[in-house]
Amino acid sequence: MNQVDLHCHTTASDGLLTPTELVALAARRGLRVIAVTDHDSTEGLDEALTAARDRRIEVIPGVEINTDVPDGEVHVLGYFVDWHDGDFQVLLTRLRHGRLDRAERMVAKLAALGMPISLDRVLELAGDATVGRPHVAQVLIEAGYVASTDEAFDRYIGRHGPAYAERLRLTPAEATAHIRGAGGLPVLAHPIVPDGTQNPGRPGTPDASSPLALLPELCQAGLVGLEVYYTGYTAVITDILLDYARRFNLVPTGGSDYHGPGRLEGELGSVYVPLRCVRQLKARRQSQRR
Ligand code: AMP
Ligand code: FE
Ligand code: FE
Ligand code: ZN
Repeated sequence: MNQVDLHCHTTASDGLLTPTELVALAARRGLRVIAVTDHDSTEGLDEALTAARDRRIEVIPGVEINTDVPDGEVHVLGYFVDWHDGDFQVLLTRLRHGRLDRAERMVAKLAALGMPISLDRVLELAGDATVGRPHVAQVLIEAGYVASTDEAFDRYIGRHGPAYAERLRLTPAEATAHIRGAGGLPVLAHPIVPDGTQNPGRPGTPDASSPLALLPELCQAGLVGLEVYYTGYTAVITDILLDYARRFNLVPTGGSDYHGPGRLEGELGSVYVPLRCVRQLKARRQSQRR
């Protein structure tokens, strides 16, 4: 049975379970350590930590910041970030405002494409959470324009879709520096898309468009870890990534990217992540504090 899952979402962003439900499920599955890593939000952390208090499970506070590069997205995880830090919260608030503004523009584009949906319904589904494209997809399903979230992304709201809209984003190096600034450990998330659209290339020579090509710059900005265990990663991919982690002196981390029951990203605890990853992260945290 796996013991560690360092990449989980809750209703604080686009996950389906509340922080309490997530922690309860993880404890039932026998996980010993999970990290809560919501998109651009730390709003679920207090609840998750409270839920972990009377269970035999440890919750590592985290966040996942979506950043922009010319041809796609790079996600940076931040572990042990001080989420009560004022500057960091100002940053997250700005990012969430950018999401709200983008949701409005996507709804307008959908209307222009002959698919009017209600912005209020999108925001209602998001509730207190960071509003994201999955919420827009859900309303498109409710309205009968598409049959699934995947179809919504493929046809309309994916990066190259006709209803896609840009939003305020940081660069990967900026996100890395902000996480460090708030005392956190920045980790480059899922650096390879397992469907092969991002070719890791031969070991040691990343494709120019791969997030791995950013490693020298991100290490300069304070990167501490690399997500090498991830939903859909083969042993070969993980091996290549472990090699990058060694060469750049990064802690290997991993998780499922769990978003809730029935969601496709990955099942909670389904990815093997060695417990020593947690120990190594904590060791970096200690040395960073000194
Ligand atoms: P956003 O954060 O608003 O840019 O939306 C991106 C999120 O949508 C990702 O973090 C995924 O959790 C979710 N998602 C669900 N299905 C897809 C898909 N087919 N393609 C990309 N993202 C998806
Ligand atoms: Fe997500
Ligand atoms: Fe991600
Ligand atoms: Zn994620």
